[in-house]
Amino acid sequence: MIRIAIDGPGGAGKSTVAKAVAKKLDILYVDTGALYRTIGLYVRSKDVDPKDAEAVGALLPEIDLEVRYENGAQHVYLNGVDHGDAIRTPEMSMYASAVSAIPSVRAFLLETQKDIARKNSVIMDGRDIGTVILPDADLKIFMTASAECRAMRRYKELTERGQDVKYEDVLAEMNQRDGQDSSREIAPTKAADDAIYFDNSGLDFDQTVDAILEMVAKKQSGEQEKPEKAKKTKKVKRKGSRAYRFCYATLAGIVGFLFNYKVINQSKERDEGGYIVCGNHVSATDAIALCYAFRKNQVRFMAKKELFKIPVLASLIKMLGAFPVDRSGGDVGAIKSAVNLVKDGGCLGIFPQGHRYPGEDPRQTKTKNGMALIALRAKADIVPTYIWRKKNRFKLFRKTYIIIGDVMPFAELYNGTSGNSEYSRITELVFDRICTMGEEFEAELKAKKNKNKK
Ligand code: C5P
Repeated sequence: MIRIAIDGPGGAGKSTVAKAVAKKLDILYVDTGALYRTIGLYVRSKDVDPKDAEAVGALLPEIDLEVRYENGAQHVYLNGVDHGDAIRTPEMSMYASAVSAIPSVRAFLLETQKDIARKNSVIMDGRDIGTVILPDADLKIFMTASAECRAMRRYKELTERGQDVKYEDVLAEMNQRDGQDSSREIAPTKAADDAIYFDNSGLDFDQTVDAILEMVAKKQSGEQEKPEKAKKTKKVKRKGSRAYRFCYATLAGIVGFLFNYKVINQSKERDEGGYIVCGNHVSATDAIALCYAFRKNQVRFMAKKELFKIPVLASLIKMLGAFPVDRSGGDVGAIKSAVNLVKDGGCLGIFPQGHRYPGEDPRQTKTKNGMALIALRAKADIVPTYIWRKKNRFKLFRKTYIIIGDVMPFAELYNGTSGNSEYSRITELVFDRICTMGEEFEAELKAKKNKNKK
């Protein structure tokens, strides 16, 4: 079995190249863009605005998508009908790009894509294959080329198919789609950390195919595996106080077992600290869950000052690095300590909801702006996390997933202002990301459950 992920912007030649590579290696080529295009086609046929997340989401139950391979070629059947090249028009490119930014659409297509790769050796192309669909792919390539070069290729492809288009329009549409696809909140076009960055601007089709076959051969001969293996066996050097490191080394295994923690890393934990870990709040043990999930850096939390008066608990939370906050009013000292902690390269954990909301939809809960204020003062990046706990009578042993999302860089969050409205804007942005991560995870769980029932 081999699984190859190719991501990159439109027009980089991913699909034609991947098709040729698939043929040479005798494996399946999966064109994931065709799935989004097909949803776009259905949305268009119903005259629905492709940017209207609610209206598009309401159409999804009416859609039955099936991917079939006929003589090695992929066909997507929409409610039993294969629409062929009708999904390949520039209009459908824009529809696909718009609907693909909607979380429910991505969740709807997630299992279909994963399922194909589970059963077959594949080369799959798209925007989030290396990061979301096949995070364990054997080979990840991020393929790109200059915008002009990509537009020219797309222009030729369309005119060869008999479509009447102008190069300038194709270039403009490509730039617009690139912007849309790479700036969106959910699954933006981006290279996985372990992807090979491959700019094929100066290469023709055959040279590009050969270059990829070479990467595959190298991978199969194990040449590229050596650094990976070396990385895996290297011991993680955990940062934090001595007491914390000792505590982590001796207790993490037991804690992970008792609380049944499962960590899903959507992005790799950074070696260096200096960021804020921000999450939803469902249980009194959430701080422990986040301490457990972050292996390289000690995540420290603010805790109600009253807790520091309870004998055994006080020693425990102190050892975990907690520092006191007076919740009866704005505690300037605690905010200062938090800002300094992050500025000095530490990691601060914070729950913007302020209180625990077990079993409630986080979108319906209130948030506080302290996290954004600290982030702005410390100029800190934010790592969104989502904690999901199984509903169960017993507190211990109920499965708890801790999902660590992609870093939200300070430079992208900050718009040059400060003040309450800015704090609210940033809090909303970050918390929306956290909620979306939770919704996607739950949709994935549901899809898995339904599949198991069948
Ligand atoms: O690759 P293709 O140009 O056919 O994709 C059409 C659109 O579908 C892209 O512009 C992108 O917005 C979306 N897409 C995506 N994720 C994928 C594949 C495609 O968001 N894995």
